[in-house]
Amino acid sequence: MVKEEKSKRSEVKGDKDVKAVSVKKNENFSEWFSEIIQKAELADLRYNVKGLLVFQPWSVLAMEKMYGILETALQRKGHKPYWFPTLIPESNLKKESSHVKGFTPEVFWVTQGGETKFTEKLALRPTSETAFYQMFSTWIRSYKDLPFKTYQRANVFRYETKATRPFLRSREFHWIETHCVHKTKEDAMKQVYEDMETTKEVLHDNFGLPFIFFERPAWDRFAGADRTFAADVLNPDGKVVQQPSTHLLSQEFPKGFDVKFKDNDGKEKYPWITCYGPAISRIFASVVIVHGDDKGLRFPWSISPLQVVIVPIKDNDKVLAKAEELKKKIAETIGIMNVEIDKSEKSAGEKFNHWEMKGVPLRIDLGEKEIDAKKLSIFRRDLNKRESIDEKELVNYIHKIAKEFDANLVKQADHIFDNLVKEVSNMKEMKKIIEEGGIASCNFCSVDKEGAKCAEMVEKEIGAQVRGTKLGEENKIGKCAVCGKAGKERVYIARAY
Ligand SMILES: [Zn+2]
Repeated sequence: MVKEEKSKRSEVKGDKDVKAVSVKKNENFSEWFSEIIQKAELADLRYNVKGLLVFQPWSVLAMEKMYGILETALQRKGHKPYWFPTLIPESNLKKESSHVKGFTPEVFWVTQGGETKFTEKLALRPTSETAFYQMFSTWIRSYKDLPFKTYQRANVFRYETKATRPFLRSREFHWIETHCVHKTKEDAMKQVYEDMETTKEVLHDNFGLPFIFFERPAWDRFAGADRTFAADVLNPDGKVVQQPSTHLLSQEFPKGFDVKFKDNDGKEKYPWITCYGPAISRIFASVVIVHGDDKGLRFPWSISPLQVVIVPIKDNDKVLAKAEELKKKIAETIGIMNVEIDKSEKSAGEKFNHWEMKGVPLRIDLGEKEIDAKKLSIFRRDLNKRESIDEKELVNYIHKIAKEFDANLVKQADHIFDNLVKEVSNMKEMKKIIEEGGIASCNFCSVDKEGAKCAEMVEKEIGAQVRGTKLGEENKIGKCAVCGKAGKERVYIARAY
């Protein structure tokens, strides 16, 4: 009996060698990402409108949890939730000139309802400043109404002309946008810093994503912003992905929308507005990319659609009864939605591959041998390692893993930028670093408008972008690595999506 069990287990081990993804993440990142999306069933790309995709349950369940964490953080900081209409009248968009200029090329327009042609076109929201601020002008009256902090979770539409890529750049995406109104510019800047803190708290500490915060140069600011700050995450192909950005808007916005308040000195004033836009579907892409490996996804514990899966090695009553008993026990600890028994017809080896591809944090492989020995064999996806515990320790073990799992992923991910940011002093060195998949740091003439020429040169010669200045870093004076004139700033240059 014991011997038979042993031979079965070695067959199972043999199956485990089946390759889940046909390419290695670090060798062919683009293909790896495409395969993961299909094999882990994250999105179906066969929908018949170009640039739009169908998000499947495995990504939606994770993104729901991500929304939950982010919304809790925002509410804790005083933001109130709203649901605004998806349609915005063209006249709203026109109220702030640089905003309309920036977004118009990307707007989807609704021009008729049924057979009736509208006298005014309606935009499918590309972002909702011009919807919110229209209402702010009717809601905000006095300094006592400030700060006025809002957010909404929404899908937004942008007619992207660059090549679309599932999750990273699609024509409809899912995000949160916050819009806050403040009495003074100082208060508004405090909000911008608070948004950056939220990004750190949620993206890094919860989702395990390392990033660098940059203040964007003048030519790369959000349309209508005085200042734009954004977090860049790095992909294995050396390109950075812009994650949440937060903006101090120009006062053209309150002026354009007539948002005013009566201050405590009795005078009417224009407030300062900030907005912040974490895109959940894009952040999800970074979670997949940063933590995934050659076997598939690795979800952080806190956002995994499923935290524990029990795989019965043998399909008999004894094993299945034990599996149900364990499931009940685990459900009391982490909730019934977070634990499942794999009762599919697949072989044990196929099941192992399947759940490793799906990125479930813990897998309990249950056979008669384990039941008889009152032991459990558990595979943990953070360390890709099997552990054996006493059955009676199960609940304590899950508590322990719930605490340390995400910390392990963060620790591994935190090395992503190691040795990749290199200092350069001319274009030749810059090109070399960028082509090796790194990020170049150099002196630069200016991040105001007059530096745009040097940025264009970098784009043209190297295909890379000036991501901006690093927050909290002192400027050093030195020659601009592009034009050789006296530099005013230290900037970071990378290729980006
Ligand atoms: Zn220059």
